[in-house]
Amino acid sequence: MMSNDFPENTSQAEDQDTCLIYPSTMKLLLAEDDAMLADALTTQLGGAGFEVEHAPNGAVADYLLSKQSFDIAVLDIGLPMMDGLSVLKHVRQTQPALPVLLLSARDALDDRVAGLQAGADDYVTKPFDFPELVARLQALLRRSQPANSSALLGRLSLDPTSRRALVAGEPLELSGREWTLLELLVNQRDKVVTKEQITQTWSAEGGETGGGNSIEVYIHRLRRKLEDAGLVIRTVRGLGYLMETEA
Ligand code: CA
Repeated sequence: MMSNDFPENTSQAEDQDTCLIYPSTMKLLLAEDDAMLADALTTQLGGAGFEVEHAPNGAVADYLLSKQSFDIAVLDIGLPMMDGLSVLKHVRQTQPALPVLLLSARDALDDRVAGLQAGADDYVTKPFDFPELVARLQALLRRSQPANSSALLGRLSLDPTSRRALVAGEPLELSGREWTLLELLVNQRDKVVTKEQITQTWSAEGGETGGGNSIEVYIHRLRRKLEDAGLVIRTVRGLGYLMETEA
């Protein structure tokens, strides 16, 4: 069994031999014609672990969606050359499962209805808070992953519908936050889950927001509960946590 406890102190300088694992990036298409907003979003989404491709108008968005493979798309509704709803309707013909979030400057019910009818998965009205946007994107990505329907990893199985976890058929007692953290780690298994992702997922589910120490406490509890599951939650220093099956 490999060691899963690196020192938690991230303030010390990163050693040369720290394992170099970066959060796996999700490829995101951002269709937004407001250049300042697009710049800000590209930077912030990049910081949140997304690889962002920016389209300044609907025609470019439509072209990129047909030529490249994306994990998720954020489409402004009011776009030049081809509006966001038309881009959405077009991409739905070939990619029915692509998670799509719409942005609109107006809080118009008509837009929301038209967007959902055109196949949008979620909808955010400008102005919006960036953490809310990221939390919604992450929720869409979790929903879009097939592992979410029923995940089996090591001797652990998760039933997202009833929010129950079983180890070798025995139910684990988990608090709401422990469940959310476990589900996040399992759905992104073999990828680093950052502390920011954990905090954002928790705050998206409501309840009080915990600090960095509180994440470590929850990780510690989960490790104890998963001792018999054949799973390891590894600390990737300065980045976050990684769930792996025991070697
Ligand atoms: Ca616009």
